[in-house]
Amino acid sequence: MRYRTKVAATVRLPDRDERETALEAAGYNVFALDADDVYVDLLTDSGTGAMSDEQWAALLRGDEAYAGSSSFRRFEEAVADVTGFERVVPTHQGRGAENVLYGVLADEGDVVLNNTHFDTTRAHVANQGADPVDVPVPVARDPDADEPFKGNLSLDRARSVVDDVGADRIPAVVLTITNNSAAGQPVSVENAREVRAFADEIDAAFVIDACRFAENAHFVVEREDGYEGASVAEVAREQLGLADALVMSGKKDGLVNAGGFVAVRDPDLFERVKQRAILYEGFPTYGGMAGRDLEAMAVGLREAVEDAYVRTRVEQVRELADLLEDAGLPVYRPVGGHAVYVDAAATFPSIDAERFPGQALVCELYREGGVRAVELGSFAFPETDRPELVRLALPRRTYHREHLRHVADAAADVLDRRESVPGYRVVSEPSRPELRHFSAALEPVDV
Ligand SMILES: *Cc1c(COP(=O)(O)O)cnc(C)c1O
Repeated sequence: MRYRTKVAATVRLPDRDERETALEAAGYNVFALDADDVYVDLLTDSGTGAMSDEQWAALLRGDEAYAGSSSFRRFEEAVADVTGFERVVPTHQGRGAENVLYGVLADEGDVVLNNTHFDTTRAHVANQGADPVDVPVPVARDPDADEPFKGNLSLDRARSVVDDVGADRIPAVVLTITNNSAAGQPVSVENAREVRAFADEIDAAFVIDACRFAENAHFVVEREDGYEGASVAEVAREQLGLADALVMSGKKDGLVNAGGFVAVRDPDLFERVKQRAILYEGFPTYGGMAGRDLEAMAVGLREAVEDAYVRTRVEQVRELADLLEDAGLPVYRPVGGHAVYVDAAATFPSIDAERFPGQALVCELYREGGVRAVELGSFAFPETDRPELVRLALPRRTYHREHLRHVADAAADVLDRRESVPGYRVVSEPSRPELRHFSAALEPVDV
């Protein structure tokens, strides 16, 4: 799919001195930068994409009635058409949906299984007093294995958790598609079918975290036996159709800047979800969203499953990966749907994990090109055994090839002087270690 610009937003590359000053003032933490000082912003793909002209037009149709708005009816119909779920409650974003659903499903002492819990999912499950347990296929941790579905859930691992804790303690099994915390790797329809059967076996609810369901469906068409020539819309309906409930962040494959939803099949579960939604989100026909935003997401969900849109989207991410690899960066393969992950430990072998090689790369990309990426290694996840990854996430329908080339040029320049790149140490951090990458301050140290 091709786009032409209809609304122009200017971006400016601050000069080198300004970038240096901005980085220092931010405490070498790019979350503290002003977005105006960023030239290509690859911090996240969440809520940062461009809406289409059809979505902007739909905003004006927004019906802001407190109850029973026509915008909700159109939203409900779009969710039913795209996902097959007829019972839906809108929420302000994905974590609102998680709060509502896991608040109803999980209790103190329970165990929730997931191919990999995304950070907010883990936090909401834990907040219920339940234990979030990850059961990814082992190959998810291998950055070089050329496997088609490295995001899958391991049934063997899941069964061994059942053997340990007993089926009674497991109220839900979750598939996160694509697997955001495992480099955005996809999950096969076959795996979803196996999880369905497994959930039936242990009498648990099968939940799909559907944030990137359309990107996932594209990979199924591209890679899974029996789906060649299928449409993204067909595959999405088939895969989502296997689940009992969905949690969704509209900021990803909803193609909007805010919003989310919970969808369920069971009428009794729907009643409980609605009651909790009233407490935390809003009356069930608007939840956490304005009527106009429901309209924009109704259109966005339909656009997200257009084959040409998803193909262009995933191909752009792959193009960035190829450019970065040509520039000399070690890239996680195969490339996922929403972001390129770079192995920073291999980029800077002389910087130890305690000196945060990932943060070093993030700071250098900003210094060199005004590019903002994010560290997902020892700095973001203290005391866990994670690879030193840096993520460059592409906002949807936002950047062009020139931007990608600029990022790759900046990376090549960083690599040219990799011997002189400093490591970092934390000089102040918040009390919750799991949130430190959002607000900690650092300083460079020679290595
Ligand atoms: C973004 C995300 C969420 C949370 O959604 P928000 O809209 O950021 O609250 C949950 N799960 C996954 C897999 C995500 O990528």
